[in-house]
Amino acid sequence: MDCIFCKIANGEIPSNKVYEDDKILAFHDINPEAKVHVLVIPKEHICCVDKVNKENSHNVSYIFEKIPQIARDAGITNGYRVITNCGEDACQTVKHLHFHILGGEKLPEHIR
Ligand code: 5GP
Ligand code: ZN
Repeated sequence: MDCIFCKIANGEIPSNKVYEDDKILAFHDINPEAKVHVLVIPKEHICCVDKVNKENSHNVSYIFEKIPQIARDAGITNGYRVITNCGEDACQTVKHLHFHILGGEKLPEHIR
């Protein structure tokens, strides 16, 4: 499968890692939209929130369990925003489930 985030997860494409274990990887976004912009992905390929189900949702709960530590390790101290884009209307560009952690500065009040 030609998935850029699967390639990042298996080390084929390098990334600036914040956190990694056997299930998930967190790395800095290549095109940051905030002072700190980290992406968190499951190593298992799930295309988006729309394909989360009983069998794979443990990845999502595990990611949220780890987000506070990942945000701290990325240097975020005063709050953050977690975003996931799903499908065409949300402008999802990489079709591998990922959560954006944005912070390190005061973010705009509205996201659209
Ligand atoms: P989406 O628009 O799908 O929610 O977000 C995809 C994100 O992945 C974008 O913010 C984009 O900058 C980031 N991205 C795309 N390709 C790469 C890459 O090769 N390396 C890293 N670190 N980030 C990437
Ligand atoms: Zn993938």
